[in-house]
Amino acid sequence: MTRTSSPATSTPGDPKTTENTPTQSLGDTPVYTATHEWPPIAARLEPLNDDGDPRPAVARHPLLSFAELPPHQARILNYDARVAPGVVRYGLPPRIKLPDATRIQDMVQIHSQICEAHPELEIGSITFKKSRPRIVDIHWPSSQPYNTETPIWLSGERLIFIAAAGRVKETWITIVIRDIEDASFDAVCRGLRDFLSPHEILDYWRGVLNYTDRNGNPVRFPNGELYILVELDMKGSTDRGLLYPNDVASSLPGFFVLGENKYKLNYAARLDHCTFCQSTTFFEHHRLADCTLRLCSFCQDPGHPLRSCPAAKRAEADQAQV
Ligand SMILES: [Zn+2]
Ligand SMILES: [Zn+2]
Repeated sequence: MTRTSSPATSTPGDPKTTENTPTQSLGDTPVYTATHEWPPIAARLEPLNDDGDPRPAVARHPLLSFAELPPHQARILNYDARVAPGVVRYGLPPRIKLPDATRIQDMVQIHSQICEAHPELEIGSITFKKSRPRIVDIHWPSSQPYNTETPIWLSGERLIFIAAAGRVKETWITIVIRDIEDASFDAVCRGLRDFLSPHEILDYWRGVLNYTDRNGNPVRFPNGELYILVELDMKGSTDRGLLYPNDVASSLPGFFVLGENKYKLNYAARLDHCTFCQSTTFFEHHRLADCTLRLCSFCQDPGHPLRSCPAAKRAEADQAQV
């Protein structure tokens, strides 16, 4: 829940919202913003330590900006900012009429204007959102960045640029881990690197909360969140009969153990992992409903869930006879 100390709303990135601290009374949540910091700790940024060739110099910046990370949840309905990888999104101003009859014509018009602005690039399909007909998505198969200043006109009105997300490989997924204690953060990063191998962690992002204290001093503290961009290893996986990146992602464990702590791995292709076993092995998956290890809630024996409990069935039959 976000509470603000004044009528100002907490808009991320708007510095005005943090200037009204003197009126803040005790017990109010200070206006805060959530940001994500990029510590350069990915293996690709390290020189090789064996006597192998040193890695070529790698620019020390993330492969994608935080906003461009593939979604870690299966359904993202945030039309305002988040778009799928390889999509450029525009909004149609209200003055533009949207008769179905001119749809194809509109598509051709948009397409031709982008082609003219980017003659070197290939442009994919143009789609109108069914639920939000004023949103138009231009699919952008190129890995080259889209010039967000590109003007697009329709019926004499300029389209409103909303967002553009760089093309991301299908084998790149985002995994989010929460509630990591500060002291364990580095250990979790290192541990995950080994744990997920042969899949490679390309970048790490740390969630940070920022606010201004009552004396006007900026304060920041980590919120325990870690986002990792992972490149799935397809070579080893096809040997196991997993042909598609989504299947490989689903074969990842649901949990990761470090010391006494167990962390849930959140990612879009995650199956409904049993919360009793909390298995941390690859390629092993069952749901809580199918778990044979948890105790039956009726007879307290392990080995079967309630719905196949012989004692419960007998009791039900007796009940029916009464
Ligand atoms: Zn289980
Ligand atoms: Zn039972």
